[in-house]
Amino acid sequence: MRPIKLDKNPYLLENKDYFEKRKELRSASKFRSIIYRRFEHKCIVCNQELQNGEPIELDHIIPKKDGGTYAIENIRPLHQECHRKITYSVWKQEPDYQSEDMIDEQFV
Ligand SMILES: [Zn+2]
Repeated sequence: MRPIKLDKNPYLLENKDYFEKRKELRSASKFRSIIYRRFEHKCIVCNQELQNGEPIELDHIIPKKDGGTYAIENIRPLHQECHRKITYSVWKQEPDYQSEDMIDEQFV
């Protein structure tokens, strides 16, 4: 398994504008911890521990295209692989993620 620092986000310089826009959150990691707590640190798809070493993503419960907002009430945490499963509705047996680049919030 790859080592992953679960409570650190890979804030890249090129994402700076993105996070500037979301200044009201003050701290994305704090925001995440609130979200995790709301869901009792369980993935909503597989119902296992969120922090089991897999990348964690935040998903809009109501999709942005349907008017969903970036509010705590509209965000749920799930494993990257689980997120892919529900996003693409492809229930594969084998994880096929390869890229560290995928570890990011999917709000853009
Ligand atoms: Zn999961």
